[in-house]
Amino acid sequence: MDSTVNEEPTHEDTILENVQVETSSEIEVPAHLIDQVIGQEHAVEVIRKAAIQRRHVMMIGSPGTGKSMLAKAMAELLPKEELQDLLVYPNAEDSNNPIIRTVPAGKAKQIVGAHKAEAKKRAQFRNTLMMLLMVGIIGYSFITMQWLMGIIAAAFVFMALRYSTPKDEAMIPKLLVSNDTTATAPFIDATGSQAGALLGDVRHDPFQSGGLETPAHDRVESGAIHRANGGVLFIDEINTLSPGSQQNLLTALQEGEFPITGQSERSSGAMVRTEPVPCRFVMIAAGNLDAVQGMHPALRSRIRGYGYEVFMSESMEETPENREKFIRFIAQEIKNDGKIPHFDQGAMAEVLREGRRRSGRKGHLTLKLRDMGGLIRVAGDLARQDGVELTTAAHVLAAKETARSIEDQISDENSRRLKDYDLSVVKGTSIGRVNGLAVTGADSGSVLPIMAEVTLSQSQFGQVIATGLLKEIAQESITNVSAIIKKFTGQDIQKLDIHIQFIGTYGGVDGDSASVSVATAVISAIEGIPVRQDLAMTGSLSVRGDVLPIGGVTYKIEAAAKAGIKKVLIPASNMNDVMIEERYRSMIEIVPVYHIEDVLKEALVPENEAGFLSKIKNMASRPAANLLDKT
Ligand code: ADP
Repeated sequence: MDSTVNEEPTHEDTILENVQVETSSEIEVPAHLIDQVIGQEHAVEVIRKAAIQRRHVMMIGSPGTGKSMLAKAMAELLPKEELQDLLVYPNAEDSNNPIIRTVPAGKAKQIVGAHKAEAKKRAQFRNTLMMLLMVGIIGYSFITMQWLMGIIAAAFVFMALRYSTPKDEAMIPKLLVSNDTTATAPFIDATGSQAGALLGDVRHDPFQSGGLETPAHDRVESGAIHRANGGVLFIDEINTLSPGSQQNLLTALQEGEFPITGQSERSSGAMVRTEPVPCRFVMIAAGNLDAVQGMHPALRSRIRGYGYEVFMSESMEETPENREKFIRFIAQEIKNDGKIPHFDQGAMAEVLREGRRRSGRKGHLTLKLRDMGGLIRVAGDLARQDGVELTTAAHVLAAKETARSIEDQISDENSRRLKDYDLSVVKGTSIGRVNGLAVTGADSGSVLPIMAEVTLSQSQFGQVIATGLLKEIAQESITNVSAIIKKFTGQDIQKLDIHIQFIGTYGGVDGDSASVSVATAVISAIEGIPVRQDLAMTGSLSVRGDVLPIGGVTYKIEAAAKAGIKKVLIPASNMNDVMIEERYRSMIEIVPVYHIEDVLKEALVPENEAGFLSKIKNMASRPAANLLDKT
């Protein structure tokens, strides 16, 4: 079982051959957004169908996989003939209940324009009249020498005309929603909107009376639901919308219209309530799996009942066709950015290689494309700084260093700190100490040393002693592995206090993948057998001692190599997910393990043959231990 696998992925050598074009400028980018979406064939199909039938869609999946892109693409697909403009008029009978009118798209601006011109004409007439009157009065008083009367009369005329002016303006309707006739159906992103921005609002009027007030209809503001009328309303992280807003959104969906009222209770806007305002939109709700659970059940069932639910893929199989699409994606991002130089063949091959790596699965390409787009832009920026015509592989490699995630940078910082304090040991042997491996975030691994110490318990039952989150993790791993420990050590750990410490971690630790390390550390501590420190391990343990697969194996191995570790044990079933960068390959040996016994054989250093290893040899007759026959 110690067959080490260091061979290249089979198609790694041919990666350049796969890129058929010389530079990305030769690649044609489709005109329609929907045709630019790659790898989400199912979602694309659903969007096309939903656009024809005007159905709502719920999209569940990781960030950056194209949810908002698809929503935008749907807006392009919707017919624009039916688009309307919305106007709000003052209501002479009840000023707190402004009137709503719909007109064909493009018309509203003309109407408001005409009203304004009319008001202006009247104002001009009034001004001229005022001038004439004043000149008359002043002239008359000059002739008759009645100064006082003249001034009073002039002021009177001035006031009278001045204060009748706003009345005219107060009659001009307000443009609430305007749609250009040439554009596509509206796409409105209402992610993270407060109630006012989502449902519309009426502004507060500080004066409220006395001739200085702003008329109610003029203070009406449309909400995202109204601006999305005839188009698409996109809401990401739908579960973060307040329950009240979700309820109102449901009403809007059901009625197809929703009146606008002031959203803050104590504002004068709250007294105003318009006639119902049309809001016939297609809703695209998005989020991760939590979003489904956090969502208002009635809203969810409305979408389910009258629409589709799609799950976004995170990776796609690397077929020649998909590879071509991935390369087209590079060209798309460059074209959409508009400022960065095109990529040469080598640069495209490097991006493709990174796409493989990030998929975390053999023979797949990642579809978390927002991050890939980020990498492409950083590489392009570097090329631009260099003042060259084409972005090269060297720029992409440099960009990978620059465009690292926060988690990855923190992990490096932690490793540095571990080194500073001499906490990271990658040489020699040590009892009860194991170099475990952890992932933080999506793309960052770190070495996570684990220490175990065992003492005879004073009380009848021993306990697992650890702090905080670690306690839970350790407790669970130890419960899972207690049978295994008993088998290997002959000790009933119920009578022992087991102290576990994870060294130098502050943040999240993926507990399950530490169970192999925890078990090894405990067995080493109980038996007093040293553990090799130039070795690191990751893996989850079943109660029977089988090593089960874990996530993020590539990043964990890279972290181990970076720390100077020479050998890493990983679950055999994860072997296909290993896509470490070229430069790490010669630095570290990767050993697949199937069972905890494989782990112990690799990691523990028996003092003498008569010691621990022979003990497990003796157990070889037992069914679960027969793997050890080969020792
Ligand atoms: P989400 O809404 O799922 O978080 P976005 O749609 O905002 O992701 O994606 C961000 C950007 O990443 C897009 O504008 C596009 O450039 C790129 N992108 C994401 N997914 C895809 C995809 N499936 N095909 C092509 N480009 C994509």
